[in-house]
Amino acid sequence: MQNPHPGLPEIEYIKPASLEEASKFLAAHAGEARPFLGGTDTFVRMRDGVWKDKYLVDVKGLDGTAQVSFDPEKGLTIGAGVPMNRVEAMPEVREHYPLLAEAIRTVASYQLRNRATIVGNICNASPAGDTIGACMLYGGVLKVFGADGVREEPLATFFKGPGKTNLKPGDIALSLHLPLPPKGHVGRYIKVARNKLGDLAIVGVSVLGYPDATVASGFRFLIALASVAPVPLRVPVAEKVLAEKKIDEATIAEAAQIAMDSCSPIDDVRGSAQYRKHMVRNMTRRAVTEVWQKLTQAA
Ligand SMILES: Cc1cc2nc3c(=O)[nH]c(=O)nc-3n(C[C@H](O)[C@H](O)[C@H](O)COP(=O)(O)OP(=O)(O)OC[C@H]3O[C@@H](n4cnc5c(N)ncnc54)[C@H](O)[C@@H]3O)c2cc1C
Repeated sequence: MQNPHPGLPEIEYIKPASLEEASKFLAAHAGEARPFLGGTDTFVRMRDGVWKDKYLVDVKGLDGTAQVSFDPEKGLTIGAGVPMNRVEAMPEVREHYPLLAEAIRTVASYQLRNRATIVGNICNASPAGDTIGACMLYGGVLKVFGADGVREEPLATFFKGPGKTNLKPGDIALSLHLPLPPKGHVGRYIKVARNKLGDLAIVGVSVLGYPDATVASGFRFLIALASVAPVPLRVPVAEKVLAEKKIDEATIAEAAQIAMDSCSPIDDVRGSAQYRKHMVRNMTRRAVTEVWQKLTQAA
């Protein structure tokens, strides 16, 4: 079969020497210039003719974007240009942010993860982004450089629609900060895709649970859903039920039903909306149950 998209179009590659230069160039060429990191979304979209930018601005390596660091009091800071494999391999990430490590391992293949970044996954703003749920549940905040200097963008309010975020022309995400997670937390990411080797999620469910003596059930559960709404979705009503009612099979089933009723998936090549909704209920029930079992074993 003939490949309808045999190669990339002509693109001008720009490697600015500073953040200021990169930001000014991007702002001056709004609509025809785009920043990139690993390029794993960017080059595919350009090859397929979906994105038609004239300039690609390589922002890897500018001002700390190549560093990742862990502070036992403040948490984890992941430079925008750090590939997923480097983050996943860190002992501190495996110990303190196991849900993020688990989510990373579901992204495509090991080879792809040598290029793909977590910040690229976030800025791409696909509702199916596998690492976004974990980053949201850990309270992730992006540091962004723009025309007015550096600002913070909490992931909770960052996503506006498929491919749409609070980023403006000239904005460059520098890093992602994840505060230290609650003590004794347990996480689980369950993803269903057409195959295990490198397909986007049909549905992804992230759950983070931890003991919390201030709520009636004694535990908090945070839930994020991927690929079932225009943006990565939290389900606060389901989370509230799990905080307020005694945790048992019936309460978990009720929360899972609320999660199913909260989402608004589309039909696409990967799965029907109806299938996705039912998978949300089943996978939420499974993920919360697994987290719950681990929490009670540890108690
Ligand atoms: C074969 C294949 C399989 C894949 N499988 C999966 C999968 O299983 N799960 C999944 O979630 N994803 C998957 N993807 C998508 C992709 O790999 C991920 O979204 C990846 O995390 C993107 O990171 P990147 O660094 O390559 O992003 P890039 O392609 O460099 O950038 C992505 C987007 O973010 C913007 N951007 C990049 N850097 C910045 C910055 N510093 N500031 C502001 N905006 C920026 C770009 O302009 C672009 O719009 C797959 C891709 C391929 C090609």
